[in-house]
Amino acid sequence: MIEHAPIPVYQPSLFGNEHQYVNECMQSTWISSKGEFLQRFETAFADIVGKVQATTVCNGTVAIHLALEAIGLRPGDEVIVPSFTYVASVNPIIQMGAIPVYADSDPVTWNLDPEDVLRRITPKTKAVMAVHLYGLACDMPTLAKICKEHDLYLIEDCAEAFGSYCENQHVGSVGDIGTFSFFGNKTITTGEGGMVVSRHPHLIARAAHLKNQGVSQTREYWHDELAFNYRMTNIQAAIGLAQLERADQILAAKRRIAHSYQTRLEGLPCEFQPETKGMRHSYWMCSFLVESSELRDCLRAYLREQRIDTRPTFPPIHTLPHTQQDVDLPNAFSLSTRGINLPSYPDLTSQDIERICRTIRTFFESQGLVAKPRFTTNSHRSV
Ligand SMILES: *Cc1c(COP(=O)(O)O)cnc(C)c1O
Repeated sequence: MIEHAPIPVYQPSLFGNEHQYVNECMQSTWISSKGEFLQRFETAFADIVGKVQATTVCNGTVAIHLALEAIGLRPGDEVIVPSFTYVASVNPIIQMGAIPVYADSDPVTWNLDPEDVLRRITPKTKAVMAVHLYGLACDMPTLAKICKEHDLYLIEDCAEAFGSYCENQHVGSVGDIGTFSFFGNKTITTGEGGMVVSRHPHLIARAAHLKNQGVSQTREYWHDELAFNYRMTNIQAAIGLAQLERADQILAAKRRIAHSYQTRLEGLPCEFQPETKGMRHSYWMCSFLVESSELRDCLRAYLREQRIDTRPTFPPIHTLPHTQQDVDLPNAFSLSTRGINLPSYPDLTSQDIERICRTIRTFFESQGLVAKPRFTTNSHRSV
């Protein structure tokens, strides 16, 4: 038996100017949170998103915290958020003494279901948080309409959606305020890092003030309110700028990978997260659902034996110990128990993809879940 090299679920692609720019930081000694790369990264990022201003922060979780602070979230306020998301969408809400109100997800897009959002609005609702999961944008036109009609803030958690568009608008530019993560496995990385973006200059000014100890612009050591140190370093921004220079290449590679998976796995009982009408999927993680939780776990174990790393989709946040609520969210539950994320990093080779797909096919055949002869006949007929 051939011993294959392990395939991780993700690894960053650092083959542009990352090394050179980091060296420039070292040589100039601007290694802390002042330096020219911060401004350059913020400007380049805002240009890509379009119609927004941007401010860097040290990770995607504090970006969400700052967004909530910027809109003036108060203890006791309610924020409608999907249960099917990463825990960092919800923790800052709880840490601020506000209440996450979990809404269910759409079974096809895996994103927040606007109709369920509508049902959960109360007089205490302050905001809706749209999380663009795995690179597919939420139904922003409908969510924006709901928020406008009910006078609610619309927050976008775009941690998984750099390069994702909804009706030709980059995510983060549709709602009132948006947040990004640049963790090592995100589409664009700075190691750890994040960004807050907004169409409203006053919200970005507020986030920038709060991330920097609430220090006065004009008077030294004068801090006019309780604030935070959530600053990014120049070194991180240097990596980020180099990543942005290659953003188109990175996104194109991920798109090719996603299409390659979909083509090679055709005919198997794998239900991919689709690129729905009007959307441009950025394919942060290529993901599909299988029929049951047991089958998903068996498939993952089988792939692991073949040294192919995968991830399960996120557990529903309303079932975690510290965020638990007694609500019935059947779609969130189903999506979280049946989903799998495949290796999705931009430098994945076509040989890797071929091996992954062959392994998945063999698994389904071994389970008797693909009618092998009929598949062969069909493919002959279509040639
Ligand atoms: C990664 C992620 C975050 C948090 O970002 P960090 O940079 O890891 O703090 C928030 N929300 C979602 C949906 C994420 O995937």
